[in-house]
Amino acid sequence: MQDFTYVTAESVDEVIKLLAEKGDMARVLSGGTDLLVALREGRRKADLVVDVKRLKETTEMSYDAQQGLTLGSAVPCYRMYDDQALSKSYPGLIDAAGLIGGVQIQGRASMGGNLCNASPAADSIPALIAHSAICNVAGPNGRRQIAVEDFCIAPGRNALQNGEFLVSLQIPSPKAGFGAAYLRFIPRNEMDIAVVGVGVSVQLDESRSKIVSARISLGAVAPKPLFVPAAGEALAGKAISDAVIEEAARIAQAAAAPITDMRGTAEYRKHLVAVLTRRALQKAIERAKAS
Ligand SMILES: Cc1cc2nc3c(=O)[nH]c(=O)nc-3n(C[C@H](O)[C@H](O)[C@H](O)COP(=O)(O)OP(=O)(O)OC[C@H]3O[C@@H](n4cnc5c(N)ncnc54)[C@H](O)[C@@H]3O)c2cc1C
Repeated sequence: MQDFTYVTAESVDEVIKLLAEKGDMARVLSGGTDLLVALREGRRKADLVVDVKRLKETTEMSYDAQQGLTLGSAVPCYRMYDDQALSKSYPGLIDAAGLIGGVQIQGRASMGGNLCNASPAADSIPALIAHSAICNVAGPNGRRQIAVEDFCIAPGRNALQNGEFLVSLQIPSPKAGFGAAYLRFIPRNEMDIAVVGVGVSVQLDESRSKIVSARISLGAVAPKPLFVPAAGEALAGKAISDAVIEEAARIAQAAAAPITDMRGTAEYRKHLVAVLTRRALQKAIERAKAS
């Protein structure tokens, strides 16, 4: 392991100051399940590691009908699925939280860290996009918000500027008739990276027979998690049917631009996008009908 200075930050301002001083050689630590592995393997370099797990704002997990869910960037996944109310209201996020690594990893790993790591195959990102999450960012120039679909810019790179860090995620309050789901395909049952991941959400009308709006996002099929607005728009205003679901799946498939690697060929991934989009939509619709 390389040598670095470790600081437990006590305030948002302290984090910003430390990050701004050290630039690229400072790294934020949430659960550490990506960062510590990367530092050990020499894939990342750091002189300074700033632990943000002691801050009130990064460990907050609160819900109110107006603001929706405020999820601190360092909240570990297990706290999410251990919460009954959250599990019911944010099913796509809970699907993803329960898939990241295994139980030990979920005891430390956060959705904030998963997002900041900006892996194209990260499990939480398509689910966060489906749930319309907004990133609350703090930095030397104050606070700003970034829509989660604009946060990742390239493999391993995000939109944060020097001195900025992710404080929390804001996720809107679901209305009656809302449902979401995240599905991924991996070659074995656990502890693997998604070959394809699909996050979807649907808002149904009062009769629960018509789709008012939908959001569809794909993982592991492009250099960054992909939001496909056209696939959601194809469902908006339509009565629920196999044909409209199939059409949305076809649009998502066309948007995917995967590579071939040891986990699967581009062609195989394209095929999986259609299958998983269809299944995720069916699941989200089922959940929306029951909401
Ligand atoms: C055995 C194992 C299995 C895994 N399985 C999966 C899996 O199934 N699916 C999956 O998606 N991932 C998986 N991962 C990767 C990892 O666990 C997740 O990406 C996790 O969610 C990262 O969260 P963390 O809190 O540990 O992040 P950290 O490791 O603390 O941070 C990750 C990166 O984000 C930066 N960062 C963290 N917090 C902030 C912040 N608040 N502001 C700015 N930058 C920040 C760090 O500097 C670092 O570069 C696995 C890892 C291991 C070791």
